[in-house]
Amino acid sequence: MAKHSVLSHDVIVVATKNTGKIKEFAFALEKLGKNTASLLDYPQIPDIVEDGNTFMANARIKAKTTGDVLGVPVLADDSGLRVVALNGEPGVYSARYAGEKASDSDNNTKLIRELKHLQGNQKLADLGQLPDGSQKLSDAQFVCALALYDPATGLFVEAEGTVDGVITDLPHGSGGFGYDPLFWLPELSRGMAELSKEEKQQISHRGAALKLLLSQLEQA
Ligand code: IMP
Repeated sequence: MAKHSVLSHDVIVVATKNTGKIKEFAFALEKLGKNTASLLDYPQIPDIVEDGNTFMANARIKAKTTGDVLGVPVLADDSGLRVVALNGEPGVYSARYAGEKASDSDNNTKLIRELKHLQGNQKLADLGQLPDGSQKLSDAQFVCALALYDPATGLFVEAEGTVDGVITDLPHGSGGFGYDPLFWLPELSRGMAELSKEEKQQISHRGAALKLLLSQLEQA
């Protein structure tokens, strides 16, 4: 069967302004010989209201809104962190956990505060410590939903990826973005922010979702 039409484009438009995500997509797509454009290149696109209840619903909203304006296929990522001790929060609210204009640092501070609050009230299971003395506060999972929308057909291609880890009370590493410094990977005995770009792509929720999406596009 023919490949998806987006694979004939030299430039793939990714519907995000998040510079951490843009860097990761540019790194991954460059290996396929593609350049990456983002919403930072198209200031005429209005702010998109992400009012879906799921990561995939929000990814579809971002891809369709942008694709309908630009008239080319658009890839959108909606992603976030599910923290077990917080019953899955911050989830789809991960970017604005500490408020509408929250920075990554604001969100990380709030996450530690909420978990320490539970710990203070004896509502947190004792998961122990890492060798450096930092405490493991809760199991958690990063989730990434990808939706590719083609305005010529009105069709979506979708994929989801996850990675499991543990939230620690102290940061590890200075790479990545968002909650990466607090996300410990027990199987690697390293923090997400300690990984190289290549390593993060190999194991991350975004890398997993992209791999699945690309295999669908090859067969579309
Ligand atoms: P979105 O732009 O609405 O999809 O929000 C995604 C938010 O989830 C980001 O602002 C981060 O806080 C968090 N997030 C998503 N992916 C990652 C990741 O790979 N590392 C760390 N945080 C992430």
